[in-house]
Amino acid sequence: MATKNQKLRVIDTHAHLDFPQYNQDREELIKRTQQEGIDYIINVGTTLAGSRRSIELAKKYDFIYASVAIHPHYAEEIDDQGLKDLEEIASSPKVVAIGETGLDFYKNLSSPQAQEKLFRWSIRCAQKLSLPLIIHSRDAAEDTLRILQEEKGEKLRGVLHCYSYPWPIAEKILQMGFYISVAGQVTFPKSQTLRDVVKGIPPERMLLETDCPFLAPQEFRGKRNEPAYVKYIARELSNIYGLSIKDIALITSQNAKKLFKI
Ligand SMILES: [Zn+2]
Repeated sequence: MATKNQKLRVIDTHAHLDFPQYNQDREELIKRTQQEGIDYIINVGTTLAGSRRSIELAKKYDFIYASVAIHPHYAEEIDDQGLKDLEEIASSPKVVAIGETGLDFYKNLSSPQAQEKLFRWSIRCAQKLSLPLIIHSRDAAEDTLRILQEEKGEKLRGVLHCYSYPWPIAEKILQMGFYISVAGQVTFPKSQTLRDVVKGIPPERMLLETDCPFLAPQEFRGKRNEPAYVKYIARELSNIYGLSIKDIALITSQNAKKLFKI
């Protein structure tokens, strides 16, 4: 998709191109993505190995940056040595964030205690390294806010990605100075509640993301998602805000550059 003759310039702030879903065509897809007008991609680690793969991708491609962390799903799998290793690789060039980290009480693949411990460690790590946080939070709004409030120093910044909560949570997240991003669900016909919440979030605090390979927008629903589809999220936001898609691209790119210092 392009605006008339001109390609839209956008940033996908949340991709998982290291995942096996891309093993068959990763290089091709990344090249195509760049041609599609995606200025930058932040590839987000979910395990120690995945975080290392993110850094490898960032090394190989100029327009890819890395975020490193252990996803709350795997909180029980990481030991002290793993955390030490993670902190060490977090200082690698082109690592622009700690994430995704947070709480997932929907799937509960790790115990809430292990998730909370890892989340607190990750927040401290981000503050120590002056990096923003990429936060995943599902069915855990109150605990996410409580832990952030308890751990957050003045300078901590970040984004709550794949936003799915009602408005009052967004309000508190914004008050804390964080950004918010929404993935493909915002384009689903049944997501009017989410679109209403988004309407209350100033565009200056929104980021674009795909969360690919998951959560493809309506046009590709159920299929493998990819960074180029971030334009469908931009289009949805332009409808929600009543702004041109070009303005959405510009504002969200400025936001991402500011947050991740890219
Ligand atoms: Zn993700």
